[in-house]
Amino acid sequence: MPRPITATIDAGALAHNLEIARARAPHSKVFAVIKANAYGHGLMRAATAMSGADGFAVLEFDAAVRLREAGCRQRILLLEGFFDATEARAGAAGKIATVVHTAEQFDLLKVLPAATRLDVLLKINSGMNRLGFSPDAVRAAYTALQDIPAVGKITLMTHFADADDERGVDWQMETFERAVNGIAAPRCLANSAATLRHPATHFDWIRPGIMLYGSSPFAETPAAELGLRPAMTLASQIIAVRELRPGDTVGYGGTYRAERTMRIGVVACGYADGYPRHAPSGTPVRVGDRLSATVGRVSMDMLCVDITAMPEAGIATPVVLWGEGNPVDDVARAAGTVSYELMCALAPRVPVIEKIN
Ligand SMILES: *Cc1c(COP(=O)(O)O)cnc(C)c1O
Repeated sequence: MPRPITATIDAGALAHNLEIARARAPHSKVFAVIKANAYGHGLMRAATAMSGADGFAVLEFDAAVRLREAGCRQRILLLEGFFDATEARAGAAGKIATVVHTAEQFDLLKVLPAATRLDVLLKINSGMNRLGFSPDAVRAAYTALQDIPAVGKITLMTHFADADDERGVDWQMETFERAVNGIAAPRCLANSAATLRHPATHFDWIRPGIMLYGSSPFAETPAAELGLRPAMTLASQIIAVRELRPGDTVGYGGTYRAERTMRIGVVACGYADGYPRHAPSGTPVRVGDRLSATVGRVSMDMLCVDITAMPEAGIATPVVLWGEGNPVDDVARAAGTVSYELMCALAPRVPVIEKIN
């Protein structure tokens, strides 16, 4: 029997979560965001499971090319645009739509053959202050894009910084509306949080990411309450059991000290598998069909769980680090991070099992 750790990717959950996004924005087309290897779920696997999407958004040029070469017929969008002329030429040939967020990127489009008809998303900085044209530069950028022969359809785009919290989207929508005032073009604005909470942002295209993977964009709302199903389950087993006496410590640095007699299980999963090293003692772990918690520091290949109250637990008892029965959002919260980081960090050494149902 090999080392027992696995990541199960549930294709049915991906398809289901895509339908939840569609149901929330029934009049919009969907760019399923599958950047970063589909948030750790596998680019081609996710694209296949979500083949009902109208398009796919990625960041990595080679991912866009791989999708096209694999026969993907949907729209493909590059979220940071082309980085050089080679990408622009190959992208145009592969009909890969691109974000344009700086005037410098115009030059890459100007040298493309006039017959190209490349779809472009004009990115507007409405307050996130990351990528995009300043509101007062949008009209000139739009006109300049229209004048480039290779440019086909132009879609207006912005990205929300606070769609998941109390600050919301209104302040950015106001800036966006002022910036694009009078420009009649399709719009692509909403991430997962805006898809779920702010219908006024839906327009022509939405760009959900995290919700497709079964994680909630909202700190206070569990994914299950939104009807989402976990797409990734990181599971392993207990490979050794220790009895602790009061005063015994666990793991590197002895950060956990037993105050009473305890039983702990050593689990075959560590930070080299993608489990966050900074997860403190008390991070939720499902052991068998009950929830328990980690004890001590996470090491490279192992972590420990408290099984004092679980006499039935022992060697080979299954453990869910996150996923089915142990929401990734709960683990992320305990570890002081977000589900995005946990899922993206799934290590290549973890064997992936594809669940198709
Ligand atoms: C990653 C990303 C998204 C998806 O965001 P989620 O919070 O995962 O829904 C949408 N738009 C852009 C520009 C992104 O970079």
